[in-house]
Amino acid sequence: MNVPQAAREEIILKGFAAAPGIAFGPAYLYSKEAPLVEMKDIAREELEAEVQRLRNANARSEKELQKILAFAEQKLGAQNARIFEAQIMILNDEILMKAMEQRIAAELKNAEYIVADEIGKYRRRMLESPDEYMHERAHDVEDVMHRIIRNIRDQKLFSRLDGEAIIISETLTPADTVIFSRNQVLGYATDLGGVSSHAALLSRSLKIPAVVGLRSATRCVNTGDDIAIDGYGGIVAVNPSPATIERLRNTARRFREFEEQLVGMAELPAETLDHRSIELSSNIEFAEEIPFARIQGSAGVGLYRTESQLIGRGEYPGEDEQYEVYKSVADGVYPHSVIFRTFDVGGDKLMPDAVSEENPFLGWRGIRMMLDRPELFMAHLRALLRASVRKNVRIMFPMISSLHEVRRSKEYVEKAKKELKEQQIRFDEKTKVGVMIEVPSAALLADEIASEVDFLSIGTNDLIQYMLAVDRDNSYVAPLFQQFHPAVLRMIRMVIEAGHKKHVWVGMCGEMAGDPLATILLVGMGLDELSVVPPVLPEIKKIVRSIRHREAKRIAEKALSLQTAEDVKKFLTDVMKQKLPEIPIEV
Ligand code: PEP
Ligand code: MG
Repeated sequence: MNVPQAAREEIILKGFAAAPGIAFGPAYLYSKEAPLVEMKDIAREELEAEVQRLRNANARSEKELQKILAFAEQKLGAQNARIFEAQIMILNDEILMKAMEQRIAAELKNAEYIVADEIGKYRRRMLESPDEYMHERAHDVEDVMHRIIRNIRDQKLFSRLDGEAIIISETLTPADTVIFSRNQVLGYATDLGGVSSHAALLSRSLKIPAVVGLRSATRCVNTGDDIAIDGYGGIVAVNPSPATIERLRNTARRFREFEEQLVGMAELPAETLDHRSIELSSNIEFAEEIPFARIQGSAGVGLYRTESQLIGRGEYPGEDEQYEVYKSVADGVYPHSVIFRTFDVGGDKLMPDAVSEENPFLGWRGIRMMLDRPELFMAHLRALLRASVRKNVRIMFPMISSLHEVRRSKEYVEKAKKELKEQQIRFDEKTKVGVMIEVPSAALLADEIASEVDFLSIGTNDLIQYMLAVDRDNSYVAPLFQQFHPAVLRMIRMVIEAGHKKHVWVGMCGEMAGDPLATILLVGMGLDELSVVPPVLPEIKKIVRSIRHREAKRIAEKALSLQTAEDVKKFLTDVMKQKLPEIPIEV
């Protein structure tokens, strides 16, 4: 990278580390602001050329989108790439394209203006609809409109970003993250968003360093500025000073050396020095992630987010289509097992026929919606059960807040089994059924819930959000999202003890399971499984393999006796420094 000139002052922005790694490179400011379009008259002699500009721009836009589609299919699978198919369909809409050409001829106005006006009309109509899903699709229409306008102007599009860059943006959607990842993106830095947002999860899966919640990055950075991004410490330096560059290079070296020590870790068992085994599995959203999870030494999938199939769709996939996906995941993971979480839609997640809610995180989410839509739930459960023939499928319900919901969900499972039996369709009669503990009421009832299911998995992302009343995606309250909050730790311990009292396996699939600072504590508290994003798996395994369970228990007891999150964090940091100095922990 260029060494900053003395005149360019260094600006340090503090956010939250969302995906690990360090990168240096030029900024690319990604603004979703609409391009300014002026209305201009054209002469009759210019008409043919103007229409041709529009046609060329459409053709170029389609070519770009086809490339993005192919890439997204390869990265995310065909179903999840549909969002881009929908955009291509807009471009292929002959009636719309003809209408625009006719208006250029009739009104003798410039092509950009006609595109903005004509497609803008569609968009406005979609935004006026009470249907949340139409609002989402309105963004697609808007994206297509901007793409055509930029191509008419022959302007550079982000999908044609040349060379390497660090993307600076107000927010990033999962789709943006995918589009950019086909370029040589070195890192992502956003003003908004939390570390457990879905775009952040995706950058971790794509192994691209990311820092979120920087608040003012888009105001401080211009395209081309030198940037250093620290995805371990949650820092972005604009025009970094030689001292900052040096410091970050040292950090990067330390992590690299540590990563070298992790080579070969995948083949070793995940057990403590005194031979207590911990299942280390992966959180994934797409079947395409399975090979990497295997390379990382994953013992199966501890959380498969089935709702990832719904990206960019207007309707729920049918039973057969779902079955194909689940079967390929179950086959890919075999002989290990996979925990399929039933559709967890709502909140910040995708929902094909979404409703507008004042407070979606406290709204029609997860199991609540499934129990209200039995026809959807039954097709989903039948597809999951059909994928269970190799006996390695488990089913888990999200957002459970009462025993009544557990019982009703299980009734649907039984009903689905009965139907399959009657139709002589094969499935594993003993498919294990479990509950995600992510709502405080369910945590308090863990004892009773454990009596009725085969396993529990603690979802700390939501459990912390609901316990501490802190929106997981809101950067303004991000410092209050404290996984080491004593109340959180005590609740986790309670759930583990309640589950074990009933001889039920207790895992954790929230992001806390993948935080190296938490590993000793979680092992000491007695969890049976940690399910983490695949990139961090070897590091977590190294920590598990470096301690005695007895000692981890003592450390957990001490941590649980402390009174503030800060005290717990400091205590665990000291433990790590003392016991595992080779593990680079950034606090
Ligand atoms: C959780 O809430 O901890 C969890 C793992 O689920 P998600 O992040 O998908 O809500
Ligand atoms: Mg959750």
